[in-house]
Amino acid sequence: MNYLYGGWNSVNFVEFFPPIKILIFYLGGKYMKISIASGKGGTGKTTIAVNLAIFLKEKYPEMSIYLIDLDVEAPNSEYFIKPQHIKEQTAYRMIPEVTENCNHCGKCSEICEFNAIVNLPDNLLILPELCKACYACIELCPLNALKEKFVPLGTISHGDFFTKGKSDKFTSSEDEHKIKFTEGRLKIGEAMAVPLIRQVK
Ligand code: SF4
Ligand code: SF4
Repeated sequence: MNYLYGGWNSVNFVEFFPPIKILIFYLGGKYMKISIASGKGGTGKTTIAVNLAIFLKEKYPEMSIYLIDLDVEAPNSEYFIKPQHIKEQTAYRMIPEVTENCNHCGKCSEICEFNAIVNLPDNLLILPELCKACYACIELCPLNALKEKFVPLGTISHGDFFTKGKSDKFTSSEDEHKIKFTEGRLKIGEAMAVPLIRQVK
């Protein structure tokens, strides 16, 4: 496996530079991953990723190519390639939910490193926007008073696009021009990009 961005592992890299596109090439049982990233918009990530994918597929038709758009706050590759055979699924993230077993001891509020739980006199307030789904509060509550709740995070879509022609039929000749495409798209108003990026990967 070759990472063109050096020695970081891919999860660390993505968390540091969330607006990112990844190309994966499979050929002869080996694969290579290229990440195209920038902390700023408008620098040409999509242009490079899409055109590099198309160029390589045209040059090496036997190569399997995957274009993955991890720019989950504003994925825009699909506007350039118009993918077909799209399958979309909802992605979720976990937040804790308090049950009637809670005695408001406040331990979970002290444990949470992200200040996502506020222990009020007669209410335990959970702030989903701050929760990082680390499970510490659920695991360490002495009364087992917190349970998991899964809330929609965004969508993950898979499809194909073709470097030549636009047919809805699958044929061997079309496969020679087919590039697999995946993107993650955050729900509007959702602030937690990294959990969705992890699920797309
Ligand atoms: S640790 Fe458990 S019992 Fe204590 S406040 Fe949190 S949820 Fe309630
Ligand atoms: S799961 Fe982790 S981040 Fe979320 S509220 Fe519990 S302790 Fe805080």
